[in-house]
Amino acid sequence: MSDPVPDVSVLTIKNADDEPTWEVVVFQVEERIFHSFRHVFANASPVFNDRFLVTQNDLGRGSSKEKPIVLDDCNEKDFASLMKVLRPTRKHVSSGDFGLSEEEWLGVLRLSTTWEMKQIQKLSLTKLFQNEEDISPPDLILRAREYRIRSWFVKAVTRIVTGFHRTPTETLISTLGLSTACKIVDLQLDTTLTGAFGPHPSVGTPRKFVAAVPLGRLRCAACNTLLFTRPIACATNACRKVLDPSSSLVSAFIMSTAATLCLSTGTIGFYFNPTSVGCSSCQKQLFPRVTCFSCGETPVTVEKLMLGYTESMIKDHIMGAFKEELEGLYDL
Ligand SMILES: [Zn+2]
Ligand SMILES: [Zn+2]
Repeated sequence: MSDPVPDVSVLTIKNADDEPTWEVVVFQVEERIFHSFRHVFANASPVFNDRFLVTQNDLGRGSSKEKPIVLDDCNEKDFASLMKVLRPTRKHVSSGDFGLSEEEWLGVLRLSTTWEMKQIQKLSLTKLFQNEEDISPPDLILRAREYRIRSWFVKAVTRIVTGFHRTPTETLISTLGLSTACKIVDLQLDTTLTGAFGPHPSVGTPRKFVAAVPLGRLRCAACNTLLFTRPIACATNACRKVLDPSSSLVSAFIMSTAATLCLSTGTIGFYFNPTSVGCSSCQKQLFPRVTCFSCGETPVTVEKLMLGYTESMIKDHIMGAFKEELEGLYDL
C-alpha cells in the first residue's frame, strides 16, 4: 500500500519568503541586450534594488527585449564581464575560476564599485595584481587612484619605500607627479633604514666607530613605541646640551659595535643598549637610563632600543602622508 498523498491545500509553505522569484529582467547596454533575473541584481546591489523600485511604475519595463531597462552608465564590454561573474557556468563554479582576463576583471571592478556590489568588488580584488610581476608599483598607484582602492595604494607605496622594487625618483616624478614623488622619497627616509645611520659629522671623533642616529626615531624594542618625542638634555653635567628630536640636525650617535641586527616577526632594524647612545655635542653617554611609558601600566626601564621598522609602521606613515587623499573616496 502506498503512502497517502498529502492534501496540498492544507499545507503551510515554510520558505515562501526566502525563495527567490525567478523573474526575468532584460537590460540594454549600448547596442546589446542582456537577460538575467531580477533577484540576482537586487540581491547583489542596493543600487539595482532602488532602480527596480523606480521602474516598477513603468509597466513592463525590463520584462522583454522590446522594452528593456537601458543602462547608460556603463559600456557593453564591462557589463558582459560582470554578467560572467553574476551568471557563472557550472564549470566556473566547480573550478572557482571565471576565466576572465585582467581587462575583464577591471571592468567587473569598475561596475561593482559603481553599483556597490561589495562581494563582487572584493572578489575582483583577489583576482587582480596579486603577483609582484603583474604590475609595477607606480602603475599600481595609478590604478589605485583610478579605482579608488586603498589597499593597492598602500601596497604599491610600501614596495617602493622598502626597496622591494627599485624605482628611480625620475620615474616616480614622470609617472606620479612631483608632489607624490616627494612624499614617497620622504617616507623612505623617515620610515626605513635608508638615511637612519650616517657618519658622525664632528671633527675629532673616531668616525669609523660611531654612527649618527636620529633621536626621534629610537623606539622601545619591547613595544615599538617612539621614546623621544620632546627635547631632552644631555645627562653629562658639563654639557647639558638640549637635543631636539624633531630637529633636522643629527642628535645622537651610537658605537657601531653596540648595534645588533634584528630580523624578527616582521621587524627589520637594529637593537642597541640605551647606555651606548652618545650626545652629539659632548660625545659622552647621553642618558643613564631610558623609561618606556607604553610597555605596561607602570613605567618600565628600557633594556633595548630599536631603530628600524615594521610593515604596520610603514602603513601608518603612508596613511598619514596621504591622509586627505586616502580618507576621501577610497574603498577597500
Ligand atoms: Zn652632551
Ligand atoms: Zn615599551
